[in-house]
Amino acid sequence: MEKRDVVIVGGGPAGRVIVHKLYASDRDFSVTLIKNEEINANRCAVPYGIPDKKPIEKFQISNKLVTDFGAELVVDQVEKIDPDKKEIFTKEGRHFSYGDLVLTTGSRPVVPPIPGVNARTITCVRSITDLSALRDLSSRGKRAVVVGGGYIGIEVAVILSEMGIDVTLVEMLPKILTTTVEPEFISHVENALNKNGIHLLTNEKVVEFKHQDDTSVNVTLGNGMTLPADFVVLSAGVVPNTELASQAGIKTSRFGICVDEYMRTSSDHVYSCGDCVEKRSFITNQPTRGEFGTNAVFMAKVTAQNILGGAKKFPGVINANATSVFDLSLGSAGLTEQMAIDAGLNIVSGRSEVLDKYPMMDKVSPTHTKLVFNLENQKLIGGSILGNGHGTAQHVDFISLAIQMGATMDDLLTYQYCTHPELAAKPSDNCYVFAARDAFMTEKDSYY
Ligand SMILES: Cc1cc2nc3c(=O)[nH]c(=O)nc-3n(C[C@H](O)[C@H](O)[C@H](O)COP(=O)(O)OP(=O)(O)OC[C@H]3O[C@@H](n4cnc5c(N)ncnc54)[C@H](O)[C@@H]3O)c2cc1C
Repeated sequence: MEKRDVVIVGGGPAGRVIVHKLYASDRDFSVTLIKNEEINANRCAVPYGIPDKKPIEKFQISNKLVTDFGAELVVDQVEKIDPDKKEIFTKEGRHFSYGDLVLTTGSRPVVPPIPGVNARTITCVRSITDLSALRDLSSRGKRAVVVGGGYIGIEVAVILSEMGIDVTLVEMLPKILTTTVEPEFISHVENALNKNGIHLLTNEKVVEFKHQDDTSVNVTLGNGMTLPADFVVLSAGVVPNTELASQAGIKTSRFGICVDEYMRTSSDHVYSCGDCVEKRSFITNQPTRGEFGTNAVFMAKVTAQNILGGAKKFPGVINANATSVFDLSLGSAGLTEQMAIDAGLNIVSGRSEVLDKYPMMDKVSPTHTKLVFNLENQKLIGGSILGNGHGTAQHVDFISLAIQMGATMDDLLTYQYCTHPELAAKPSDNCYVFAARDAFMTEKDSYY
């Protein structure tokens, strides 16, 4: 048996950040990170790696990000944890004892149990193996079906379409992007997909994949329609990898491994963070989804500080997110209006449409903003943004920080911003001030 101060299971962003934080401390820990992927992908970049323009290595995460930071790297599958004895066992027969164990086992793509789903012409979008398959399939095929209209499915559909592939996107819900995007913004995305030649089929379910050979597949929909394709990309969501924890008697829920605000599981000296854990909403404190790389990093920082003897609390996820769809870019932080209503909150929303530059400048385009406020305390609890170009991520970060700092409607009505003809709206106009003012007017009207 090999003795370690800290063992980390999983080599994604959560696992790596813990390695870095422990290394940066002045404590001399023996740390082992065990992961079952030889090479990790930079998952967020996988859709953008499909065109064969850059070497695939650019989309990989170097193992040096573990080994150069004082940790031993073991490529192996952890098969069993004995939390009473503080021991773990791997497939290759390694046996470690730990002072603290961190489970960062991540999540895996949902593979719907559709007949014919396991075939060489069908792939998910997560790992380096998936990226190799996507490169291979897209270099040979001319017709693709993407299953799932979340942000990953849409990113893949856009990239394939830009490569000249005829793409059909199938979503079983009535709308795409329903989890993070406000309904009034979804139509902009749908228009962008249609305008660029992507066939969008919503409210349609794939019921079978029929294969004649290794190079084509017929995708059958619930309505009897058949879509002939050269390959299929599955992007139907993810499930947290909780099995290792639950087999060890560690408490899990349908959202993931249960942790307290210190990222401690139900077993002593076992922490967990990242995609595999049940998250709590920063706003409602209720269990929620939130499989984002940034969430994994924030939670990992807290976990490392607590391993180092701190008593740091994780405040819950705001789920700041952003994506791009051809020329459009969009994102959100906090709750959408519907999520807030579903959570039983008494809310008011405000909208604005403000030009992103002074009107006389070139390439001016509107920025659409929606803010959601809690009427009980006037605090901002959600915001969404849609525009063109690169500014959207910074807008989302502004909204996220405003939520985190407890900004109220009044704070947003009176906050001090900059202006510049090429970089911002004209002095009198600001997307947040206008959206907050709209919310204020709506709230006032509702009293009469
Ligand atoms: C295509 C795509 C695009 C994305 N885009 C974005 C984006 O733009 N922005 C954003 O914020 N997020 C994005 N994400 C989400 C982000 O990648 C994840 O939230 C993040 O990777 C989670 O990190 P993690 O460390 O928790 O888990 P993971 O990255 O899943 O890592 C888990 C690790 O655990 C290992 N493991 C699991 N079980 C075992 C075991 N029993 N033994 C040994 N090792 C094990 C796995 O091999 C893996 O190395 C995207 C994801 C995908 C797939």
